Amino acid sequence: MTSKELREAFRSKFDVVGIIKTKTYLDEARKINPSIENVDYETMVVLGLSYPKRIFKHTDTHLVPSFYTFGEDYHQVLKKRIDDVMVNIDYKYISGVDNHPHNERLAAVLSKVGYFGKNQLIINKDYGTYMFLGIVFIDLALDETFILDIDDDCGTCRKCITACPTEALYDGGYDMKRCISFYNQEKKALTDDEIDANYSLFGCDICQMVCPKNINKGIKIHPEFELTGKEMVSIIDMFELSQKEFKTKYDNMSYLWKGKTILLRNALLVMLRQKNLKYMNEIEKTITEDKPKWFNDTALKVLNRLKKI
Ligand code: SF4
Ligand code: SF4
Repeated sequence: MTSKELREAFRSKFDVVGIIKTKTYLDEARKINPSIENVDYETMVVLGLSYPKRIFKHTDTHLVPSFYTFGEDYHQVLKKRIDDVMVNIDYKYISGVDNHPHNERLAAVLSKVGYFGKNQLIINKDYGTYMFLGIVFIDLALDETFILDIDDDCGTCRKCITACPTEALYDGGYDMKRCISFYNQEKKALTDDEIDANYSLFGCDICQMVCPKNINKGIKIHPEFELTGKEMVSIIDMFELSQKEFKTKYDNMSYLWKGKTILLRNALLVMLRQKNLKYMNEIEKTITEDKPKWFNDTALKVLNRLKKI
């Protein structure tokens, strides 16, 4: 199989395809993490699949996660598309989407699938930051690589740094622990500052929304990312449905990957911002011994503050 044929096969299922030598990636990855897992397969394919920007607003009964979670869970979508391509290609392969030991963003930079923005996201010339990344290592030696053309960078722009509400972004870096999108996915008791800054049911979109590279991007909608009606999450469902019932009702949504309790914890923070007093009884009832301490600690703080409104 030639590089061109491999690239065309992936182009039928992905918006952006880069092909590099695994060695090129590993040499660079080891400079950042010397213990990075070795891969024997010679070729690395770096894939981008775009997703659309769609803005929904919280109401006093339904809350909204980050819009990258809309539609089917992107981990499964990308993996299925990779498998659909590889089913016709008779070589061994390993694929990864998000949850794997490799450095996807580094691979994206090396293949020029995009450049590394000050908002810590890969920015592609056609899709901006609205693109999921996937990687595939293939046991195949190729005649050539496919490194895309990119001649762009953030330049003097600092919009995302200025807009970041928690100062997680700064010139030359990023403090992950301060990032809303990081800590609102963590099972931990939150500090008062973290409680005050969180505005989302899951994730944070601010540094994508303000990015000028995203103007007129986020338009294309792949069938898997069509709206399903599960973008707005019912507050009462978070209180009243069991984990199992909730998973059944909101199945296949990527905001569910850490379970319902973390969504409910974040929902309490949004309700505090909204000064939403509709659910005081439900909040009181949800603080129980069978809940984890990190949840009860934060829920109690929120309850006490809501009582003072
Ligand atoms: S996701 Fe939100 S909190 Fe995190 S860096 Fe971007 S703007 Fe800041
Ligand atoms: S907002 Fe500006 S600085 Fe931030 S990633 Fe976009 S172009 Fe770069």
